[in-house]
Amino acid sequence: RGLTKHFYMRRGILRRIAGTVQAANDINFDVNEGETLAIVGESGCGKSTIGRTLLGLTPATAGTVSLDGEQVLTLDKTAMRSMRRKMQIIFQDPYGSLNPRMTVAETLAEPLLLHDLATPADVSQKVAELLDICGLQPWHAGRYPHEFSGGQRQRVGIARALATRPRVIVCDEPVSALDVSVQAQIINLLEDLQRQFGIGYVFISHDLAVVRHVATRVAVVYLGRIVEEAPTAALYAQPRHPYTLSLIKAAPRPDPSVEQISAPVQGDLPSALNPPSGCAFHPRCPMAQDRCRKERPELRPLDGGKVACHFAEQIQEGGFGEPTPVP
Ligand code: SF4
Ligand code: MG
Repeated sequence: RGLTKHFYMRRGILRRIAGTVQAANDINFDVNEGETLAIVGESGCGKSTIGRTLLGLTPATAGTVSLDGEQVLTLDKTAMRSMRRKMQIIFQDPYGSLNPRMTVAETLAEPLLLHDLATPADVSQKVAELLDICGLQPWHAGRYPHEFSGGQRQRVGIARALATRPRVIVCDEPVSALDVSVQAQIINLLEDLQRQFGIGYVFISHDLAVVRHVATRVAVVYLGRIVEEAPTAALYAQPRHPYTLSLIKAAPRPDPSVEQISAPVQGDLPSALNPPSGCAFHPRCPMAQDRCRKERPELRPLDGGKVACHFAEQIQEGGFGEPTPVP
């Protein structure tokens, strides 16, 4: 609730605050058991910051996170450690997060022993079970991260996250570094595990085709704020925010027989250090009006979703036409 993360840029010997990067602002969402909430947006829009702040990996400037009714961010170190068991993270590049000098067996045994989920007597058995669940072979246990392909390495990353039997896993671009064919295998694995264990995913991605496939609900983030949230089918069928509409138009078509329309979102993502006035999307928005430059639209309920646009009702019928330049 109200999750906010600001980074302060300091300058000079007095370390005066010279600027504030509002990486995440007043972020609100729920993730239910067995459900996937996707957070989408361009790179640099604050998605990863939201994921890390959510887990307490980076301290929040404001806001709260609760899991099964328990406050997460205010826990002391000991309580945080046992809470960490229930909230795990998977990264885009598991290579960076796996210790290159530890075998897979050691990597997986560590969390099991740390959280008393295995004893020295049965840890090998528990490791073997994890490998099996994640589609790896028993002989992979003795291998090192560099001996694996990208897809297998991501399976190891997933197995490690799964070791502590988490309630929630933040998946930060988990398939973005993989070949398309391997992407599908990893997505299928994540979905299997979700069905089996009722895990809730916060699925961070810039890839709208992947998100459409995996998400129950989608939150679209622009410059650190949620600008639209809706059930997945509704969001793709009828985006309510001009930014969402631009993203969907810019996304590659899943059907290659359909002519590819390459229409990236016009303009660059502005700096989060000096976000535009009013609606932060206004310099790129084909529908921008005078009001948009002055007044920031609140995220408000609309047709079972939420949207932050003054003129959301006007794009209900099939979207807007050709972009008009904004003076
Ligand atoms: Fe575009 Fe205005 Fe809506 Fe912002 S509030 S998305 S600038 S129409
Ligand atoms: Mg990121």
